[in-house]
Amino acid sequence: MKIIEDLHLHTHISKDSKQNPEEYVKEAIKRRIEYLGFSDHLDLDPTDKDYGYYNYENAYADYVALKKKYGKQLNLLFGVEVTYQSTLKDTVVSSTINKPYDYMIGSVHRLEGFTIAGVRGLPFFEGKNEFTAYMAYFEEMAKLVDLNYFQIIGHFDVIKRFGVQFYGKFNAKKYEGIIRSILKVLVKQKNVLELNSSGLRQKPMEPYPSKEILEIYAEEGGVEVTIGSDAHSIKQFGYGLEETLKYAKSIFDFELIAFVQKKRVKLGKISDFV
Ligand SMILES: [Zn+2]
Ligand SMILES: [Zn+2]
Repeated sequence: MKIIEDLHLHTHISKDSKQNPEEYVKEAIKRRIEYLGFSDHLDLDPTDKDYGYYNYENAYADYVALKKKYGKQLNLLFGVEVTYQSTLKDTVVSSTINKPYDYMIGSVHRLEGFTIAGVRGLPFFEGKNEFTAYMAYFEEMAKLVDLNYFQIIGHFDVIKRFGVQFYGKFNAKKYEGIIRSILKVLVKQKNVLELNSSGLRQKPMEPYPSKEILEIYAEEGGVEVTIGSDAHSIKQFGYGLEETLKYAKSIFDFELIAFVQKKRVKLGKISDFV
């Protein structure tokens, strides 16, 4: 199987990664990945301990230097993963609007002051029932999608990353109402759902999003996806991409796309590669 793209990678520009970006590029050329995108964390909440770590100038400088060196061998893309918070939506826009990102991934990482996508977010779940915890997440995701600002919607059900530890296997069917209404908007706006393989190396042991969610996406007319391994180190780079593509294809033969300067590039259907 050919892996044509990986658009979700963290480098030393992200606080939770020490990875030199050049190693990803060299490895991607070896693996014949054609579209490779960096998507470092941009955290905008002053109460978050990761706040202020992202350095745009350094991120862009890394990208420009690597593009110059390797740009003939693969399409290197400059992305960002923005931690969306509904209370900070003006800051989300003002911090990114004039930057030359090829694409922006919008992700919900924080709820009620906790980083729920990370291990330090565990207290968010303590003493909460499943419904309350998951609905808080999907309500925030609804607001993220309503903003209609991000090309790519990151790891749509990442709340299950630690949710499974408290409530057992995630069953998206229980939240079908809100999930369907979010995906309807997402499809109408032509935002793109991300297939994120990192769930396979984490507690859920399945990709983000779950099959049930991909099913609803397809039912609502969603056709396009991007794929990313959400690697924070070279060891994690590309992990589970193949399995994730097969997983998605068992629901629908989605179309893989990339974004270059926020414009779509159609790469082909999953069946063209699997
Ligand atoms: Zn994320
Ligand atoms: Zn990420």
